[in-house]
Amino acid sequence: MIVMKFGGTSVEDSDSIRRVIEIVKSEIPRKPLVFVSACAGVTNRLLRIASLSAEGKKDEANDLITDIKARHEKLVEELIPSDLPKNYLRGKISVYAHELKNLSQAISVIGEVTGRSLDTIASYGERLSSMIIAQAMEEDSVKSMFVDAREFMITDDHYTKAVPLFPVVEERAKKLLLPLALNGYVVVTQGFIGSNGKGITTTIGRGGSDYSASIIGSLLEAEEIQIWTDVDGVLTADPSIVGAARRIRKMTFNEASELAYFGARVLHPKTILPAVDKNIPVYVRNSRNPSYRGTLITKGDGNEEGIAKSIAYKERITLLNLESSRMFLAPDFLEAVFAVFSKYHVIAHAVATSEVSVTVAIDDTSHLEDLKSDISEFAEISSSGGKAIVCVVGENIRYNPGVVGRIFSALKDIRINMISQGASEINIGFVVDENDIEAAVRLLHAELFANPSSQGSPDQLFD
Ligand code: ASP
Repeated sequence: MIVMKFGGTSVEDSDSIRRVIEIVKSEIPRKPLVFVSACAGVTNRLLRIASLSAEGKKDEANDLITDIKARHEKLVEELIPSDLPKNYLRGKISVYAHELKNLSQAISVIGEVTGRSLDTIASYGERLSSMIIAQAMEEDSVKSMFVDAREFMITDDHYTKAVPLFPVVEERAKKLLLPLALNGYVVVTQGFIGSNGKGITTTIGRGGSDYSASIIGSLLEAEEIQIWTDVDGVLTADPSIVGAARRIRKMTFNEASELAYFGARVLHPKTILPAVDKNIPVYVRNSRNPSYRGTLITKGDGNEEGIAKSIAYKERITLLNLESSRMFLAPDFLEAVFAVFSKYHVIAHAVATSEVSVTVAIDDTSHLEDLKSDISEFAEISSSGGKAIVCVVGENIRYNPGVVGRIFSALKDIRINMISQGASEINIGFVVDENDIEAAVRLLHAELFANPSSQGSPDQLFD
């Protein structure tokens, strides 16, 4: 059995969905279990409906609902030739549009959106796309079965960022999905959405469909997890900055995780973890170019080639600088600092310390003033926004001290605010001003990837 996940751009219109069906058909002997996202842009619109409703802008919210309805009706028109299912799906779309209008109305009366209502509203995107895709497969003679992910993706109550309850998910997935797949049905279900076990809809965080797919792939011990997107795999840099970015043929779980955490948009940061647990290979592939093999992500064999694999960056970083005379030789200082971060659930993306100062890079500034006020009780604190973390990732960086020198001489004209090398030593990250992101990424790419032999690596590493 394999798990295949198709992101929003892979299911954005009827041509893309037809391509998806062809890709799934080519994998039928391997018993695919298919996860789909909402059609591109739909989740953003649904969330916009919620915020417009809370602001009392009911007409604008209704226009968006009408838009979403029309977009899915068009898909049905173009993909479903038979009258009976066509009418059934049209009816379902009308019911969903009606429910969305009721939700929008309720939110506008209360004047506030809760996480719970956001999740219910956001879930319509995946529910709409998946039901149409399942039926379109059926019309194309694929023996398919639509399954509502809320039946098996059981989570806690942390609306908008719900955490799956793995033992329950495992039990449900084994009971519900496995027999269907083993009996030759192509299961079509939704990424991103779940329920809290009391029948209330939850979501597992924006972009979470990759994570849904890898959780199920891991719990059902799939042969492989395929993440289908709109680029040829994981690239050596953001192609909108480096036109000559190259596709990476093979990388390790560690490299992929670091890249995802440091801003590479191709994979959701949590995707890799479930796959690592059961050592399941993950492929990142392009649904517009399925003949391309994409990037294969595995545990690796310890003999990885090349030095650096990719450059990622994370924008909207704020640096906090803490100084304290009390800190000098005080063993509990860092503990006190991180207790404050933990109190406000703020994640430190990079940390640098000296004997008397600590610099922490964060991206969530919603509690910045609280953080500063708590910390100012025992240290001087200042912050500077408008920063970015740029990071170079590669298993072999640790064995090649020379690469650090190359990185910093390539960046000699760029102001570096902070440097950190991850504990795993497979990434080197530094904080630059946001305005310098493009220059930094281009300079690094030219240094590390323009000529792969400069990494002592054969050309086969990248396409
Ligand atoms: N549709 C959801 C989002 O846009 C989940 C996903 O596509 O992964 O965040």
